[in-house]
Amino acid sequence: MKTLYMCEICNKQFDTPAKAQQCENIGLEQVPFEAGDYVTTHGEDYGRFGWYDGDPDWVLKKPHGLHSQKPYDGTYLSFIYIVTAVTNRGHRAIIHLRTKAMKDQYVSGWTSMTGHHTPHLFKTATEGAPTLGGTEFVGEVCGRHDLI
Ligand SMILES: [Zn+2]
Repeated sequence: MKTLYMCEICNKQFDTPAKAQQCENIGLEQVPFEAGDYVTTHGEDYGRFGWYDGDPDWVLKKPHGLHSQKPYDGTYLSFIYIVTAVTNRGHRAIIHLRTKAMKDQYVSGWTSMTGHHTPHLFKTATEGAPTLGGTEFVGEVCGRHDLI
């Protein structure tokens, strides 16, 4: 029989209590957002989309596109997302997002601070967004886990 020690955050098992404690000491990844905040998934100058079919109030025009092909009207777009929840997977924070910029596709998903599409704060929940009316999204965890 062998005794193992487990990190209570990520459930990884170790031979010694010290190693398990060391893993626990990493803690949960902290994110500068909370449910209800509005974020974009790109910085100042990158847009990912060339089109949208939802609410234009959730769409930002960007001077440079992430992809090489130019959209029809020459304008690259990034969407505004509301943070619906922040959960964790092991030590990593998972940021759940939802937008009204699209009707059916690319509506919701998740990302992280170290992922391909790092979120940037657009407006806090307290500041709100005058043109964004969607309280129905607040607190809702997206069911699907598509990477935004
Ligand atoms: Zn751990």
